[in-house]
Amino acid sequence: MKSLTILGSTGSIGVNTLDIVSSHPDRFQVKALTAGYNLDLLLTQITACRPDLVAVVSPDDAAQLRLMVGANGPEILSGVEGLIACATYAGTDMVVSAIVGAAGLVPTMAAIEAGKDIALANKEVLVTAGKLVMQAVDRKKVRLFPVDSEHSAIFQSLEGHRKQDVKRLILTASGGPFLDRDPASLKHVTLADALNHPQWSMGRKISIDSATMMNKGLEVIEARWLFDLPAELIAVHIHPQSVVHSMVEYVDGSVMAQLGIPDMKAPIAYALSYPERLPLDLPPLNLCQMSALTFTAPDHNLFPCLSLAYQALNAGESFPAVLNAANEIAVGAFLAKQISFMSIVEIIQQTLDQHQTVQLNYINDVLHVDRWARNAAQDVLNQIRI
Ligand code: NAD
Ligand code: MG
Repeated sequence: MKSLTILGSTGSIGVNTLDIVSSHPDRFQVKALTAGYNLDLLLTQITACRPDLVAVVSPDDAAQLRLMVGANGPEILSGVEGLIACATYAGTDMVVSAIVGAAGLVPTMAAIEAGKDIALANKEVLVTAGKLVMQAVDRKKVRLFPVDSEHSAIFQSLEGHRKQDVKRLILTASGGPFLDRDPASLKHVTLADALNHPQWSMGRKISIDSATMMNKGLEVIEARWLFDLPAELIAVHIHPQSVVHSMVEYVDGSVMAQLGIPDMKAPIAYALSYPERLPLDLPPLNLCQMSALTFTAPDHNLFPCLSLAYQALNAGESFPAVLNAANEIAVGAFLAKQISFMSIVEIIQQTLDQHQTVQLNYINDVLHVDRWARNAAQDVLNQIRI
């Protein structure tokens, strides 16, 4: 029986994780849950899983949730301290890191420091602090399993092979809702257009990141840290069918790939149960019914965010954290209908242009850079707000 903490239980990944847990009650038990919002869903999850510990963001929500669960409910905490308490809870073996954004960094790092294995969905953790996180993983001898479908595919395609035989990694990208657009036409896209992902059903922030392709840029940076390979050995192919989840090319020209239907349950379950594979109640992949599997190179004019991510990765050290923070501010503003779709790239570009490298020796250095970049991005945003 594996005991879990789920950070971000009310999100898209959190809900999928709890689905897997509920179909395998002999394998997993949930000890702690955290959520930012959506107390009603959280209450349903608490009733179903009976965790020992729960954390929400605001003290007011914690007080309300205590009333909702009644006297026999779990202990309910709030704030960063609450997240850390859940992430480091003594009764937990593995922490599912599924908060969205850099808010997941501190609790995920605390979980690693407490010796917990990690199922990592939150890519922003590695984008902002990849070097420090992977050093902590090594030092604490914990396992960090990728949940992101591309990284799970690469992780699976690397198994049984020698690292020195790897020629390059190939991340696949669906291309999102604007793949066939003329770049100029993106000036007029709406929030609903951008949220309408053709293949994957996901949270709002990652859906916008997929429309700008920043999601793939963040994933290139995530891959750099997870698999310890430089940017020039990490390529991106557009693959609109989202069947080949990613690939590894070896020195002899062989390419290993992992295929499946686009459903996050498979990579989540593999991270939870590695090295075993759990039977999942998913439709089979029927290749005979598909007319074609296609692959093309990404158009950097259409998706400038992908180029910005490579530039930030090559600039190194604090630049990816700045890229991420500026992106979070810009995407938040687009979701709030304060800026146009095209302004997202402008805000990120201008914030990166203002940045000078900061050495990241401690998580506090990352948090400092994150705050600087959010303020800088907010200043840019205030100037261009529509
Ligand atoms: P989501 O928005 O659906 O859920 C996010 C969860 O985090 C929710 O429980 C929310 O309440 C909580 N949260 C939000 N802000 C918080 C804060 N400041 N403090 C504490 N909790 C907070 O997001 P998602 O789509 O489930 O994505 C989660 C992470 O997984 C992201 O980093 C995303 O990039 C990654 N990911 C998601 C998918 C997917 O299919 N959804 C696929 C691959 C990777
Ligand atoms: Mg992905």
